[in-house]
Amino acid sequence: MDTSSLKVLVVDDEAFVLKLTVRILSKLGYDNVVTADNGVVALGEIDNVTTPFDVIICDLNMPEMDGIAFMRHAADRNVSAGMILLSGEDERMLETARDLAAAHKLHILGVIPKPLKPDALSNLLNTFQPTAVVEKQGWHQEGISETELLDGMNSDQLHLVYQPKVNISTGEVTGVETLARWMHPEKGLLGPGAFIPLAEETGHIDQLTCAIYRKAMHQAGDWLAQGITMKISVNISVNSFTAPGFTDFLIETAQNEGMDLSNVVLEVTETQVMDNALGILETLMRLRMKRFALSIDDFGTGNASMEQLKRIPFSELKIDRAFVFGAAENAGARAILESSVTLAKSLKMDIVAEGAEGREDWDLLASLGVDTVQGFYCAKPMNNADLMSFLEDWTGPH
Ligand code: C2E
Ligand code: MG
Ligand code: MG
Repeated sequence: MDTSSLKVLVVDDEAFVLKLTVRILSKLGYDNVVTADNGVVALGEIDNVTTPFDVIICDLNMPEMDGIAFMRHAADRNVSAGMILLSGEDERMLETARDLAAAHKLHILGVIPKPLKPDALSNLLNTFQPTAVVEKQGWHQEGISETELLDGMNSDQLHLVYQPKVNISTGEVTGVETLARWMHPEKGLLGPGAFIPLAEETGHIDQLTCAIYRKAMHQAGDWLAQGITMKISVNISVNSFTAPGFTDFLIETAQNEGMDLSNVVLEVTETQVMDNALGILETLMRLRMKRFALSIDDFGTGNASMEQLKRIPFSELKIDRAFVFGAAENAGARAILESSVTLAKSLKMDIVAEGAEGREDWDLLASLGVDTVQGFYCAKPMNNADLMSFLEDWTGPH
């Protein structure tokens, strides 16, 4: 393989490790190397390049955004690069990190303990086989520009799909989660990784969140008119909670469509909540008093403590798919899954498990006392027409 043509991204918060890695790579014949001293900068590099990286070497322990959070963002962007994880943690942590990366369906080449040795890196790099672009969910990695974002926000390009949530004891569909897609005229269907981070970085997220919420409530109003009553979840970026007038907007838009606010679930990711807990507490309290359901999403990927969770009035805890998919076989994931369930029960929160893909996942979740399952095992996200036929045919999981 012509190593000099491979594009490598190295992410580490320590300048001297970056330098050392670049030097080792150069000796091994890799000269097309970009470095980033934290996860945010690395994601910026990933978003801004025209040819994707072939290999990403990432440190696990970094302040601000650690390697675990970085992997999740990389997975959301459909990154297909070979990943090498680097860390000073013990063997067990490295193995858990490898399992997490695999659960996110990242292409993981391996894990290397620090201090980095040239042989270890060279051996892993030699296993790298450039794969054809991985089309995991049928959309492209490519993003859209800020102008396209602004032009398309209120047009037909913004498109919502819905993924059913199923009650584990009755098998009934009790609600759906709204997930955003972008129907680009030339690039085709784009996933949220292609435009949500862009909107957050360019300050247009409030406008985008409102456009998504308005569409979602309008759809829910249509369902009501057809006699379909179910919960509808919408993902809200944490910054939007502090936008002026946002609470009133949420209430009025839902009520104008005839929605009972207790059937509207607002999801916010654990990592975002923990970074902004104090700033949004007041808004979350008001929303809860109005009877909105509040869900803490991707639970397990942040580091919320019992104390913090007790203070914030969440009504639902949504366990991240990294701890659900394959938890039957993976002791590390299963431990986090079990402790999340215990925690949620003690705080009397509804427990939703995300990312169940097989019968073993479903059975394990049922045995642990999870309330609701959302995952490919029951249904993938789908457009409204498909959802209507799905609801008609659905008789429970098999
Ligand atoms: P999320 O809120 O945790 O949404 C669940 C994600 O898991 C969805 O990915 C869904 O397609 C995927 N998923 C569900 N079940 C399975 C499964 O069994 N296996 C696997 N492999 N994946 C499963 P999607 O649609 O790509 O969304 C990714 C993330 O983008 C969402 O994670 C959410 O954080 C964000 N997002 C999506 N729509 C919006 C939105 O309207 N606003 C905001 N702010 N963020 C959004
Ligand atoms: Mg969500
Ligand atoms: Mg989630």
